[in-house]
Amino acid sequence: MTANIVLSAARPAISYTHNNKCYVNITNRCTLICTFCPKSGGNWTIGNHNLKLKNEPTVAEILAAVGDPRRYTEVVFSGLGEPTMRLYELLDAAIELRSLGGRVRVDTDGLANIVYGRDITPDLEGIVDSLSVSLNAQTPKVYGHCCQPPRVEDYHAMLEFVVRAREFVPQVTVTAVEGVAGVDIAACEKLARRLGVKFRARTLGVID
Ligand code: SF4
Repeated sequence: MTANIVLSAARPAISYTHNNKCYVNITNRCTLICTFCPKSGGNWTIGNHNLKLKNEPTVAEILAAVGDPRRYTEVVFSGLGEPTMRLYELLDAAIELRSLGGRVRVDTDGLANIVYGRDITPDLEGIVDSLSVSLNAQTPKVYGHCCQPPRVEDYHAMLEFVVRAREFVPQVTVTAVEGVAGVDIAACEKLARRLGVKFRARTLGVID
């Protein structure tokens, strides 16, 4: 049953399912302006799902959109936007989902420590099962080109976030998108090994 899922491209989806996972869209705001992001080109759809929110959902609306989390292998806070821009709502929803027997993954740009001006990684302990951090590039220069962060040094803050998160989140993976100009997937994978985390190469437009 997927009755809680909005499939029409005309209506914004708070949640949608793919491969037995429930993806949750809680904000359209971002720290980055990625050149490869579909929304940068004005495309707010992934698959059949319109992800352009009219309003950011409340915690109650997020929980209603997911329903029983045990129906899914994991509930993934993703986008189209950076979920940690709503860190406290994300954590409140995740606590409830885990109490119902769900497993929680967060897809993030890894820049929350900059946004909040403190190390937020301890906040994730016992609440987030898995983190997927957008490494996106093998050097600050390439990162600057393809992700357009507020400051070039944000790349190092993202790497530091990954290292810190290992202490509090059981599974940490970094990702990069294949085919983006200047991005060396093999070098990203090597960097992931140095950081002591897993690596996943992503294909643009493919939900994973
Ligand atoms: S962080 Fe994600 S949602 Fe935000 S601009 Fe980059 S690709 Fe798009």
